[in-house]
Amino acid sequence: MKEMIGKVAGFFNGIQNIVVLTGAGMSVDSGIPAFRGSQGLWSKYDPMEYASIDAFCNNPVKVWKMLKELDEAVACAEPNPAHYSLAELERMGRVSLLVTQNIDGLHQAAGSRQVVEFHGSQRRLRCLSCGRTFSRNEVMMLEDPPRCLCGGLIKPDIVFFGEEIPERAIKAAFAMSSICQLMLVVGSSAQVAPASHLPLLAKQAGARVVEINLEKTALSEEISDVVLLGDAGEILPELVEQIREKCDD
Ligand SMILES: [Zn+2]
Repeated sequence: MKEMIGKVAGFFNGIQNIVVLTGAGMSVDSGIPAFRGSQGLWSKYDPMEYASIDAFCNNPVKVWKMLKELDEAVACAEPNPAHYSLAELERMGRVSLLVTQNIDGLHQAAGSRQVVEFHGSQRRLRCLSCGRTFSRNEVMMLEDPPRCLCGGLIKPDIVFFGEEIPERAIKAAFAMSSICQLMLVVGSSAQVAPASHLPLLAKQAGARVVEINLEKTALSEEISDVVLLGDAGEILPELVEQIREKCDD
């Protein structure tokens, strides 16, 4: 494994455009189970009944029950070594853009700045009527359902089923992926659009694709140049260390 990581560290030499794509696997060690896993929220709450925009508008009190549970999980979660390593890579000038499918805000909490959130953030809330955004502390969570001063319903600024992924996020991610020289895919099987397009765009641009996942994915055979199977919380700190040693530009 150490040798494989060394090979990947070598890829960073002399290149500028590096995109990282992360998914739910990043945050499991931070105490946020993957939504679809056996411990996940969707094993308890049917996503169509609890995470669609129609369901929310029809019965916000019911959906807020699920949202409060999600909110608690996110509020208690802290970044793990994988998040800190990606933030460190950005500080070292080794990450141009980090695209995440996660809504937990842990990349920013770890210090990453160039972050695009495909599915929004649970740490931010938005009024569905006037569009005003709030931090979690500004909203009276006791009120059921929480409402804006304008009377509108407040919802975490996450993308529900039936809602569009913010166009700005897609544009930024697609633009950078189609000129990148290296893409790291961490904790994501990249099966769900639009994230699923990114490794393909990178590959078409001639970039190397490196995957860090616990298990093989559909990417592993077709797209990835190197697949590092294991815990990102162990692999990424080692990668940072080896990039420091090997890359002098
Ligand atoms: Zn409002």
